[in-house]
Amino acid sequence: MIKGGCFCGNVRFQIEPGDYTAANCHCSMCRRVHAAPYVSWLVVPKEKFAYQKDATKTLQSSDTGARYFCPDCGTHIACDNEKHPEIIDITIGSLDDPAPFAPTLEVFTDTRLDWVAHED
Ligand SMILES: [Zn+2]
Ligand SMILES: [Zn+2]
Repeated sequence: MIKGGCFCGNVRFQIEPGDYTAANCHCSMCRRVHAAPYVSWLVVPKEKFAYQKDATKTLQSSDTGARYFCPDCGTHIACDNEKHPEIIDITIGSLDDPAPFAPTLEVFTDTRLDWVAHED
């Protein structure tokens, strides 16, 4: 199992191993909510994802999108969208071992910060 959780340990989850898309999102909502220049996401079918400890609080960040974070330590764990209800995006940074999940996709590059290194 691929395992992860928040900084304080009050949220823990696991993902069935699989070949999942990993993407860097440069949208302004990810940037502000995570206070980071961009966010790396693993795109996982919902049935492959399960919480072991789910203490998450929900932030409705758009009309159709919601984000899930630990209210105790602030770590953002997941994001989903009613437009694609079968999918949940998981923050690669919350995985116990993020190393194998190199993003291969850049999304919302129109709002990417100029100082973020990129090859294209
Ligand atoms: Zn926490
Ligand atoms: Zn985003």
